[in-house]
Amino acid sequence: MKTALDSLNQGHWFKLICGASYEYIPTIRNLALVYTLAGADCIDVAADPAVIRAAQEGIRVATSLGAIAQAKGFLYRQTPILMVSLNDGEDPHFRKAFFEASQCPTDCHRPCEQVCPVDAISLTGVLREHCYGCGRCLPVCPSRLIESRFYVSTPGAIAPTLHQLGIQGIEIHTQVGREADFSRLWQAIAPYQQQLQILAISCPDGDHLLDYLHHLSQIVQSFRGTLIWQTDGRPMSGDIGAGTTHAAIKLARKVLKASLPGAVQLAGGTNDYTVSKLRSQNLLKTSANQPYIAGIAYGSYARSLLLPILDSLNPNLPDLELYPHLLWEGVQLADHLVSQLKRGLI
Ligand code: SF4
Ligand code: SF4
Repeated sequence: MKTALDSLNQGHWFKLICGASYEYIPTIRNLALVYTLAGADCIDVAADPAVIRAAQEGIRVATSLGAIAQAKGFLYRQTPILMVSLNDGEDPHFRKAFFEASQCPTDCHRPCEQVCPVDAISLTGVLREHCYGCGRCLPVCPSRLIESRFYVSTPGAIAPTLHQLGIQGIEIHTQVGREADFSRLWQAIAPYQQQLQILAISCPDGDHLLDYLHHLSQIVQSFRGTLIWQTDGRPMSGDIGAGTTHAAIKLARKVLKASLPGAVQLAGGTNDYTVSKLRSQNLLKTSANQPYIAGIAYGSYARSLLLPILDSLNPNLPDLELYPHLLWEGVQLADHLVSQLKRGLI
């Protein structure tokens, strides 16, 4: 039987990013359910026990429906790898917007609410669980009331919990110049690495990026699982428009040239246009000897496809499988994205 890691080796690894700071449990559970049935290889969530359990529950329900999904022609093949995201320093993926609603002028036409892609802003302020830190509300407030509140992972506390919860993949978000912080985080994780199948390192572009990534590969050289280099082109932007995918592809080309040990996977701005762009630039796997993009992670775009369905559910009965017609409609939408990458490669 094929495993999720086979998809990586064959160049059609599909990862769903639920959001490093997204904590809205019903949606995370349903996203994990739908994308597992559609054939996702990996689901990446916040390092929070309640969020992890919600994703595990979604995957468990999907597994019980897997035979039906296959009979309907969807790409469900196996249980996806559950990954959690950690950070070694300040990072836009690990922040929440905040403002004091009592300070808002009564005549404000509330552009913050209009620009938020996940309805995280209410009359009382930012709904913390819903906010995933995209930052789109920050510049639109005419009164400059909205601020970012960043947080950094505390690995000493998190690592044992991740071990207990059976997490198989960890992603570390880093930036050029943070060798010492990265190393500290890795030292806390390393005692538990036997359980990990995947270590992903996510980094945006920057001066001396390739030297930095080579240095990181030395720091984690004891890791015996699969290493993924996630090229974070334009973070959390895939739902904005077609052009956001270019930054991720450009960065991936650069990282591919570095011949780092491990696979290269796109993120940050990925959307409906990403696969066709990769194909047109001959970056998907077509022969054994050619450097290729091993996979794609989809975040805001993948979530935005499903939000109209998920938002329509009765909040008192939020489990999507209770509405079979909506469940399979959602899987069909997710399949449109997953099969773009996998079609012709499996
Ligand atoms: S626009 Fe983005 S940062 Fe602002 S509240 Fe919504 S999700 Fe959070
Ligand atoms: S735009 Fe600024 S002032 Fe207006 S409702 Fe939003 S946070 Fe308050």
